[in-house]
Amino acid sequence: MTKEKGNIYLSSPQFTGEEIEFVQRALDQENIATNGVFIRQFEKAIQERFDSPHTVALNSGTSSIHLSLHLLGVGAGDEVICQTFTYIASTNPILYLGAKPVFVDSEESTWNMCPEKLEQTIKDRLAKGIKPKAIVVVNLFGMPANWPELIKVAQLYDIPLVEDAAESVGSKIGDKFTGTFGDLGIYSFNGNKIITTGGGGALLTNNRFWDKKSRYLSTQAKLDFPYFEHIEMGFNYKMNNISAGIGLAQLGVLEDRIQKRRDIFAYYKKNLELLPGISFLKEPEGYFSNRWLTTMIIEPDTTGFKASELREFLLKDGVESRFLWKPMHLQPMYKNAPYSGGNIAEDLFLNGICLPSGSALTEQELDRIINAVFILHKEVVLKSEKTV
Ligand SMILES: *Cc1c(COP(=O)(O)O)cnc(C)c1O
Repeated sequence: MTKEKGNIYLSSPQFTGEEIEFVQRALDQENIATNGVFIRQFEKAIQERFDSPHTVALNSGTSSIHLSLHLLGVGAGDEVICQTFTYIASTNPILYLGAKPVFVDSEESTWNMCPEKLEQTIKDRLAKGIKPKAIVVVNLFGMPANWPELIKVAQLYDIPLVEDAAESVGSKIGDKFTGTFGDLGIYSFNGNKIITTGGGGALLTNNRFWDKKSRYLSTQAKLDFPYFEHIEMGFNYKMNNISAGIGLAQLGVLEDRIQKRRDIFAYYKKNLELLPGISFLKEPEGYFSNRWLTTMIIEPDTTGFKASELREFLLKDGVESRFLWKPMHLQPMYKNAPYSGGNIAEDLFLNGICLPSGSALTEQELDRIINAVFILHKEVVLKSEKTV
């Protein structure tokens, strides 16, 4: 959708006004590159805010996943188990390394990787004589995955977990923040995420060695010589100082952004869940989702309309919505990858829709979207016909 006044977008960024001061300071100090002072400050702020022992600020969520898998020694021909229900950024880094993804279905309660299916998949691969090198689990739309159970399975078979927390910055189970459950965790600060640095990411770990190694690898693996000496392949993946400055301003208002997204979710839910055939994902006991995007499930037999029809109806009114992620095992590029599971992710893709959820949305804008659902809903139409 092209940017136009009056349109409503899925997840627009929201600025505080302080970003410009950080950017100005970076420019004034002629300190804009990947060794600037805001970078270390941003890393420390993340460590404190999310109780993460080590954090390395990188230039995207995707590069953070790539580097994580690289640190775990994933290489050509290896297998990596991955949640099928996700955005392609979770899985492409597996291909960058010449490794092969093995996809696993979701569970009903969190929509994230099903721990039982994970265990079945590991057993199945072991029976074929293959030990998967890593497991990539995602906290989709902000909802934490079933970490207590997933960690049990991963430890039982001694396979490291990479936590893709790109969408779940600030989400938690009990007091523990997403991004700190995996052996390595990643955040994304892309333009559409709950807080943004323009483009950016972070790698979180409690392993001091990985912290050091990822700083080295993300800056082209330069050895500390008077000239540049290289003994292995590195990457140009470090965050720059301008982005880190924007990140410091954004992190300062994360609390408020989370509250706003949760309020938006609650508003949609309150107004729409009484309609037959419409439902929303609940937080399991002890779970706290940042509700990055409000997602809604539509049972077309009951509502009289499909997710695709609502999407088109909204689009005509200048409102952007989106299907839930198309499962990776259904993507043409991954058609030969092994898949284990049923049709949970497939059904979510078929019947789900992401509604506009940006923290700057107004109540009038939300009402416009809610009204559209009412107009399409057959129960509402029948009732209003009766009263005429
Ligand atoms: C956004 C996103 C990423 C990648 O982040 P970038 O910063 O855009 O590279 C990874 N995984 C998921 C699930 C995402 O939504």
